[in-house]
Amino acid sequence: KSGFISIIGRPNVGKSTFLNRVIGQKIAIMSDKPQTTRNKIQGVLTREQSQMVFIDTPGIHKPKHKLGEFMIKVSKNTLREVDVIMFMVNAEQAIGKGDEFILELLEGTKTPVFLVINKIDQIHPDELIGIIESYKGKFNFSEIIPISALEGNNIDNLLATIENYL
Ligand code: GDP
Ligand code: MG
Repeated sequence: KSGFISIIGRPNVGKSTFLNRVIGQKIAIMSDKPQTTRNKIQGVLTREQSQMVFIDTPGIHKPKHKLGEFMIKVSKNTLREVDVIMFMVNAEQAIGKGDEFILELLEGTKTPVFLVINKIDQIHPDELIGIIESYKGKFNFSEIIPISALEGNNIDNLLATIENYL
């Protein structure tokens, strides 16, 4: 199995930390090589059962007012072409305008969207239910997976779940 995964989310939620942890030394990071005009390969993870190509989606992390209609179209086209969208959020922060902008772009997409709640090492386990509930009302996520990219918690489960969608 193989497939493309787009990691999207506000700045500082932990996207790079996740990629660095997952991709480790196993593969070469090719962040400067454009795959197409719109997708940038950030890394490839080769597992026993699968190969996962992580790509960046230009434009999607920026605030709305700076985005032209063309960029929005480009972002949407990219998101349509991937197998899984990982929408990463910070467990420490309430849902914000930046998150809502991204969820708006995702509205109506047929691509499975995972809510990945990162930095769970920073919260009390009891808080997780409330965080999950606050996002559940905003979007129909295919999967909701809490992780700590920094400490490595639940990353294996996330990757195994992604594999099911490839
Ligand atoms: P990006 O902008 O989404 O790529 O975010 P980065 O990966 O650059 O991370 C932003 C900051 O959050 C850095 O200081 C990371 O060390 C920190 N960070 C990322 N993941 C975690 C996590 O799971 N737990 C904690 N406590 N910090 C994290
Ligand atoms: Mg980054």
